[in-house]
Amino acid sequence: MKILIVEDEPKTAAFVNQGFTEEGFVVDVAADGVDGLHLAMTGDYDVIVLDIMLPKQDGWSVLEEIRKHRSDQCVIVLTALDAVSERVRGLNLGADDYLIKPFAFSELLARVRNLLRRGPVRQESVLRFADLEMDLARHRASRAGISLDLAPQEYRLLEYLLRHCGEVSTRTRLAEQLWDMNFDGDSNVIDAAIRRLRRKVDSPYHRKLIHTLRGVGYVLDERD
Ligand code: CA
Repeated sequence: MKILIVEDEPKTAAFVNQGFTEEGFVVDVAADGVDGLHLAMTGDYDVIVLDIMLPKQDGWSVLEEIRKHRSDQCVIVLTALDAVSERVRGLNLGADDYLIKPFAFSELLARVRNLLRRGPVRQESVLRFADLEMDLARHRASRAGISLDLAPQEYRLLEYLLRHCGEVSTRTRLAEQLWDMNFDGDSNVIDAAIRRLRRKVDSPYHRKLIHTLRGVGYVLDERD
């Protein structure tokens, strides 16, 4: 799951970034409205958390632009403005939800999860392929009933491969989905992550599930 945080207050941005990263999200942060809008238009985010009082371009106009071009994009407005008229304005402009500062991260997380659940792509709580199983609610993965001890990045990588099993995931696609925008695109990093994941998911087992398509990418598949 990929999330964009548009927030100019560095402490809040860092705290929200850390919170979502710990929950297994890939997080990009923009510190003003112009950057935020640019990323919202060009990136592929499951949810955007949008502050209203922003430098360069305020959140209302960012939201308006997002809605003009991407009507299905989930947006949660995050702001200190708590007047009823402001809330109504946010909802009229097409915000999916609204959270008033100061807020508890757990509430923001719950609202994001809620939006993702009712979003256009319904989230299954367990992903399965062959004898591989990933319980998203419990944040656990197992193979043949044996629990896999995965680092957060390995978990995200496996989740992505599971969601796209049978399809080739190119290195570019994996980089886009699994690393934030500061990733330098070095494919060695992706290959190394795959190697670590294979050691846990495939090495102990006779039947290999992660396959390399030389020069293209990777695929989760039951081939011999
Ligand atoms: Ca602000």
